[in-house]
Amino acid sequence: MPYAAVVGGPRTASLVPVPAAPLGDGDVRVAVTGCGVCGSNLPVWEGRPWFAYPLAPGAPGHEGWGVVAEVGPGAALSVGDPVAFLGENAFATEVVVPAASCVVLPRDLGHFPGEAAGCAFNVAARAGFAPGQTVAVVGAGFLGAVVVALAAQAGARVVAVSRRPFALDVAKTMGATEVLPIDGDVVGAVGDITGGDLCDVVVEAVGTQAPLDLAAALTRVGGRLVIAGFHQDGRRTIDLGMWNWRGYDVVNAHERDPAVSLAGIRAAADAVAAGALDLAPLLTHTYPLDRLGDAMEAMVERPDGFLKAVVLA
Ligand SMILES: [Zn+2]
Repeated sequence: MPYAAVVGGPRTASLVPVPAAPLGDGDVRVAVTGCGVCGSNLPVWEGRPWFAYPLAPGAPGHEGWGVVAEVGPGAALSVGDPVAFLGENAFATEVVVPAASCVVLPRDLGHFPGEAAGCAFNVAARAGFAPGQTVAVVGAGFLGAVVVALAAQAGARVVAVSRRPFALDVAKTMGATEVLPIDGDVVGAVGDITGGDLCDVVVEAVGTQAPLDLAAALTRVGGRLVIAGFHQDGRRTIDLGMWNWRGYDVVNAHERDPAVSLAGIRAAADAVAAGALDLAPLLTHTYPLDRLGDAMEAMVERPDGFLKAVVLA
């Protein structure tokens, strides 16, 4: 019998048996290995007036990976294929998804929350990192840490900014050349580092007002401000006078085209398989599926040493 975690209300999750979903044309049944807990899961976990509960079984797990267990008619995958998949209900022991929403993974990839890793690759693609740039990454959680690595690999000088010393240590191991605590005079420090010009590219990877303001302030005239945090939780204000005067490009780096998301997952899987990127130090906490609530609370609290949780089915 399959099981799924059900978020029955704010800060409440339980594991319940669910009926096995039928396989349609082109579908596969995936035995889920695990699913990442995403920062974007937090508003629905903590509760906001606009959400309705209970959520669908397995929601809001959208960073799942596993192994194909059954293949529907016309699905171009094989039983036993390791896959990461796009789907919103992956806090479960199994899911039924279109084969077209799966990326076949190299074997022995380790824990691989594909959508999260792919998201970072697509942010990097939209950021257009290049050799010689000075890049600041504001927020060094999982997304920020992978973006730091990709900017450094592209030949940029990377400044990581975070409120947490642990996250800054991780950013250093991922290739940041400078790390700055967010509560200091970051603009002054970056001005010193860049000789006053500020950054060619700044990636905001938090999703709240103050880091957005900081990222905007760090972007040089004619540079590029890349908004990668999830600003789903209420409105933001911006200093449009400054944004406008500096004449920089502003990129909202979320992909809504599933084909692009899948390409990002594929690129991330290839990088991990090639040894160019190690996700293991970033996946700091693992929980069994029946402790989804604890995984969510860890994401809320971010204790020292926490970067990202994965829930294992
Ligand atoms: Zn996510």
